[in-house]
Amino acid sequence: MLRKIFDWFIQLFHREKLYKYEFADDIPDKTSPYTVYLIGNQGYYWQAVMICPCGCRKLLHMNLMDDYDPYWNYILDGKVISLAPSINRLVGCKSHFFVTNGKIEWC
Ligand SMILES: [Zn+2]
Repeated sequence: MLRKIFDWFIQLFHREKLYKYEFADDIPDKTSPYTVYLIGNQGYYWQAVMICPCGCRKLLHMNLMDDYDPYWNYILDGKVISLAPSINRLVGCKSHFFVTNGKIEWC
């Protein structure tokens, strides 16, 4: 029972925290949770980097260049970001999720 309440609080916490984005010309040495880093310059970004939202702390790298598969599209809306398609880790924690309007949607 306590565990269920605890899980509910964790979910609530995660639900209310939105992913924002930051631009960087290289992958930062220190990355923050709830942030998707768009790596590139002069308005051209070739990689999105974020800490895995499952809690495993792994840094996830998503290619943004459409000449290489797989690649992701990003949409910036105000302070929040969406990424498509879903992010599916085939190794480690095997997390599978969407980032939609700054929210993690687990698959
Ligand atoms: Zn993970």
